[in-house]
Amino acid sequence: MKPEEIDWNNLKFGYTRTPVNVRCYCRDGQWGEIEEHAEETVTMHMAATAFHYGQTAFEGLKAFRCPDGKVRVFRMDENARRMQSSAEYLRMGVPSVELFCEMVTRVVTLNKEYIPPYESGGSLYIRPVIVGSGPQLGVKPASETLLLMFVSPVGPYYSGGMKGISAIIDRTHDRAAPFGTGHTKAGGNYGASLTSALKGHEKGYDSVLYLDPAQHRYIDECGAANFFGIRVDAAEGGRAHYITPASHSILPSITNKSLRQIAADFGMEVEARQVELDELNTFSEAGCCGTAAVITPVSTIFDPADGKTYRFGEGVGPWSKKLYDELVAIQHGEVEDRHGWNTVLDL
Ligand SMILES: *Cc1c(COP(=O)(O)O)cnc(C)c1O
Repeated sequence: MKPEEIDWNNLKFGYTRTPVNVRCYCRDGQWGEIEEHAEETVTMHMAATAFHYGQTAFEGLKAFRCPDGKVRVFRMDENARRMQSSAEYLRMGVPSVELFCEMVTRVVTLNKEYIPPYESGGSLYIRPVIVGSGPQLGVKPASETLLLMFVSPVGPYYSGGMKGISAIIDRTHDRAAPFGTGHTKAGGNYGASLTSALKGHEKGYDSVLYLDPAQHRYIDECGAANFFGIRVDAAEGGRAHYITPASHSILPSITNKSLRQIAADFGMEVEARQVELDELNTFSEAGCCGTAAVITPVSTIFDPADGKTYRFGEGVGPWSKKLYDELVAIQHGEVEDRHGWNTVLDL
């Protein structure tokens, strides 16, 4: 689709073709030159480890067209480091932070006409994916790794205001094993979560709340997003606490990391630790966080074990709204980028 044909105000979170994707191969430990491609297909050996043994991981980040006319990419160095940790764990070639960031900058620049205008509330979603592309018959790492990045313009997550979602606790499926790949963005984690998510939808819930896979005692994640709760402590004069689970099987969300920093900047008490299910009773607000929506308020959590529903209000709570507004304002260059999170491009 040509950029002038795009209906910017009605974009969803979906794939729209853009003119260029960028690729780089690592062969026997050596990364090559960055290649620019127009075609959407990849030709790969049928014995590539990506197909057979799940040597794949991905990332997701966004670039924003800002009121000052510049383009800002949010915390791409953090995505680079997280992809390094996924690639290392899955024994693929590990791209340097510099290579990763150069590829992001290149793919955004080459597709700059596809960055939605500020007024539309949309953004350019960047999808890096890394796969074992070399052939291997036995369960061994591939000798060739492909790092590919494409982009797609996406609409604002919230067009009709921030509505809260419903979640159901799932004790019959885990998204990751206790000492497995949950802390990486390995593709297999997401294939493994599809049954659980679809069963949740069939029962009428928007999302699934996962518990720690070892004991099913602590909260882990909400779908493919991190979880947080807000507790306002009357004994401390109404001080607000931002509480988010810590566990080996949680994917370290960059949005969550940013919200923790902003919460601390606001003078909130930040707690990243194990969170027992019971503690849901003490939260006045709950939410999921990730790049796609920044914050999705959670209205209800249903526990099929005892039939109990935890309730956190219909829409977005005051603290969640304040955190959301600040993070979005930083991403658009509307308030000072005091932690140096943005890469500003003159495009
Ligand atoms: C990607 C992802 C998140 C969110 O991470 P962000 O860096 O904030 O986008 C959270 N949980 C899971 C399981 C994820 O895959």
